[in-house]
Amino acid sequence: MQINLYLCTKFPNMTSRIDIQLAAEAHRLLNAARRVVIFTHMGPDGDAMGSSLALRHYLESRAADVRATVIVPNDFPDFLAWLPGVAEVLVYERQAEMCDQRLDEADLAVCLDFNDAKRIGPIGERLLQKPCPKLMIDHHLHPTDFATVMISDPSASSTCELVYYLLNQGQSNSNQGRDHWRPILDIANCLYTGLMTDTGNFSYNSSNPDLYEIVAELMRAGIEKDKIYDRVFNQYSADRMHMTGYCLYRKMQLFPEYHLALITLSIEELKQFNYKQGDTEGIVNMPLQMGDIFYSVFMREQEPKPGTSKNVVKVSFRSQGDRPVNVMAAEVFRGGGHANASGGDFYGSIRAAARLFLREYPKYFKKD
Ligand code: 5GP
Ligand code: MN
Repeated sequence: MQINLYLCTKFPNMTSRIDIQLAAEAHRLLNAARRVVIFTHMGPDGDAMGSSLALRHYLESRAADVRATVIVPNDFPDFLAWLPGVAEVLVYERQAEMCDQRLDEADLAVCLDFNDAKRIGPIGERLLQKPCPKLMIDHHLHPTDFATVMISDPSASSTCELVYYLLNQGQSNSNQGRDHWRPILDIANCLYTGLMTDTGNFSYNSSNPDLYEIVAELMRAGIEKDKIYDRVFNQYSADRMHMTGYCLYRKMQLFPEYHLALITLSIEELKQFNYKQGDTEGIVNMPLQMGDIFYSVFMREQEPKPGTSKNVVKVSFRSQGDRPVNVMAAEVFRGGGHANASGGDFYGSIRAAARLFLREYPKYFKKD
């Protein structure tokens, strides 16, 4: 993949990741739009919510006659409920009619933190049919070609990083008396949340020094970064804490030859701990804290989707170093992702999903 790095004229210390022509095209779409819908992926995380709300604040703070609606396929976790603007977010699973209406009225659809319409569930089909321009901004591998303007950079830490660069490159930004763009506080809070969550609080995918130029700018805009950490990461309920302990003590299977850990949770087990959206977030990373575990796989069983009879198992993969997990995610679980962080689905019971995984992993994973 070719990555174009350009020196950002408004901010000479910082290279931008986005081609100047491409950024100009994206801004042409953003400037022309009055009714914008912003979509992000199923199981919205900090980067998905942060980038979407940041863009909404940007669009609505520039022009009084612009309305931008953030639409998520299903609920976001409680630990993101403090994000500015979250109260107006529409959830397709519960508010399908209103979402369809906003999509019908839209003159621009923006797709953030996903690169395949399948990642937004049932409304994805309608999005593909909708004859308005589409702007995609994303950092996942293998984008599908469905948008009018595609900003795709898998080497970026997060979609929030790309949104920062794009907004910084805006032609019509007021420079507020400085030599570069500075986000308003709401935008800065949203963008920092995505940078922080997609890098595990800057512990992976975060080795580019330019990232910290952005963090510095967001801090100058007024964010309180330790408070954001606290709001996102220190929000466990007692049930969630107990479930995490149960996973590590009772459910973690170790396969030392392959440096592999597997954790599975059935619907019954999730119910036992009053599971809420987001409660299993981060569990897949925990086994990697062991010095001799380099692969970690986590499986969570879900009720069948409406109109279907089979349970769905959401599978998450993590690894360290030169041990790609995205090939197995794609070939065995119809998913994909990054080399060290991938995911996919399985239709059937959690036991069947685990059986399939245990049969197939030696073909994809290495021993040393
Ligand atoms: P997570 O394990 O946090 O759900 O997902 C980790 C990464 O795997 C995501 O950032 C995404 O790149 C990828 N991923 C997760 N689930 C899917 C899926 O169902 N399909 C595809 N193509 N990628 C997925
Ligand atoms: Mn992301």
